[in-house]
Amino acid sequence: MRIVLIGPPGAGKGTQSVLLAEKLQVPHLSTGEILRAACAEQTDIGHQVGEFMQQGQLVPDGIVQKIVFKELSSLACKSGYILDGFPRTVPQAREFDAWLERSGSSLSLVLQFCVTEEILLKRLADRGRADDDRDVIHKRMQQYEDLTRPLLEYYQNHGVLHTIHGGEGSAEDVFAKIEKIVDNAPA
Ligand code: AMP
Repeated sequence: MRIVLIGPPGAGKGTQSVLLAEKLQVPHLSTGEILRAACAEQTDIGHQVGEFMQQGQLVPDGIVQKIVFKELSSLACKSGYILDGFPRTVPQAREFDAWLERSGSSLSLVLQFCVTEEILLKRLADRGRADDDRDVIHKRMQQYEDLTRPLLEYYQNHGVLHTIHGGEGSAEDVFAKIEKIVDNAPA
């Protein structure tokens, strides 16, 4: 299965994508993790994206798409994958659809994580990551509202969108809801 997870920072996509990848025995790809690693290792890409990330801004589409499409073309992703953090904007989703079509595949599911702002802010405060600084969080939330939220309508119109209430109960409770959707979806 090819699954995309969408949600604001702190919504639990990272935790759930690991659980889901284990269940389905497919790789999970987090663009945020890949980009943070590139910054830490000071690679060429790291140098190009560091400034954007520190300010809580999205990095340019071209850079992210090159990374993602290369990974998804690998043998490891042949029988499916979980994508956390891409696509993040409608233009990225359009590019992704064009890429999927060229590759002769399509998305199985898009899972949207809905969590109240109060819970999100508490989780991000507890996490204490470098890009979880208060002003940066605010910027990332704003970017989510302005640029990522329109994606929900895009995928709703494609008939693949499902909503998960990610703030209710433990990670296991949330995962049980996801399993129900995945088990009932066409392969
Ligand atoms: P995340 O861990 O998914 O919240 O991503 C952390 C940061 O990585 C974001 O604030 C962006 O700067 C960058 N990033 C991750 N995925 C994307 C994407 N699809 N498009 C642009 N920037 C991204």
